[in-house]
Amino acid sequence: MEEEMPPHALKDDEKPKTKKCPSCTTEAPLGAKFCDVCGFEFPKAPPKFKPCPSCSGLNQLSATACQHCGTVFGSDFSLSLDEALRTGAIVRGMDIEEEDVQAGEAMAESVRKVVMASGDQKLINVISQLPEESWARLRKYLSESE
Ligand SMILES: [Zn+2]
Ligand SMILES: [Zn+2]
Repeated sequence: MEEEMPPHALKDDEKPKTKKCPSCTTEAPLGAKFCDVCGFEFPKAPPKFKPCPSCSGLNQLSATACQHCGTVFGSDFSLSLDEALRTGAIVRGMDIEEEDVQAGEAMAESVRKVVMASGDQKLINVISQLPEESWARLRKYLSESE
């Protein structure tokens, strides 16, 4: 076959037009749902859109509100980490209540002042790395371990 080219001949910026069947290594068209040779079912590409729960309109995965009806999307939607950090719903992989976020922000400032004034380098390192959202939790854990 003259048309066949080894995969490494493709330029970096050129997207491959075929995918390899993980079961029998046959090259299949990118859009194929099944391998023609062995019948392997290719995993579906991740969805680029999410349906609105109230109007079923499709929205970008990153949308925080429906562009059709304005419904604000709740935590039922899988949030990207960036969005989660912005909304305070999930911080660094943990579920954090909005209350905790606010309580943490409120106490972080005063704790920082006290710790900075203490000059304790290790504590200063800790508080400079601890996100404000975690402060309320830390306080809770500390009080529980007393
Ligand atoms: Zn196959
Ligand atoms: Zn909607």
